[in-house]
Amino acid sequence: MNYDKNNIFAKILRGEIPCKKIYEDEYVLAFHDINPQKKVHALVIPKGEYINLDDFSAKAPQDEIVGLIKGIGIVAKKLGVSEVAKGGGYRSLVNVGENGGQEVPHLHFHIFGGEKIGRMVS
Ligand code: AMP
Repeated sequence: MNYDKNNIFAKILRGEIPCKKIYEDEYVLAFHDINPQKKVHALVIPKGEYINLDDFSAKAPQDEIVGLIKGIGIVAKKLGVSEVAKGGGYRSLVNVGENGGQEVPHLHFHIFGGEKIGRMVS
């Protein structure tokens, strides 16, 4: 499977469609989910072209891996949900492929918070 340059997050990264931006640096862009499942629901995506976590873990250089993980921590703090921010904690998850329920074929970490998130898998 090749990376689809026309997926919706690729368009957001190119500025072709808008997003409610939370944070951006050299490695990541973070924005609010368009259809929030919890009080806080954000997405953190790498700037590189990676279809999913398998693709990223196989191909991404160390600096992009570090940049993405650090970005998740920065965004959780910025959103006020992290324990560092005394926000009570949050859940971060990644869906991969069909069984994982992935809809958009550009790697993204969800961040859910602002309330109890509930069961891990329903
Ligand atoms: P997943 O099922 O893990 O692929 O999640 C895709 C997520 O992207 C869903 O939670 C959608 O609500 C969200 N989403 C889709 N389009 C947009 C968009 N234009 N801006 C922000 N979030 C979006």
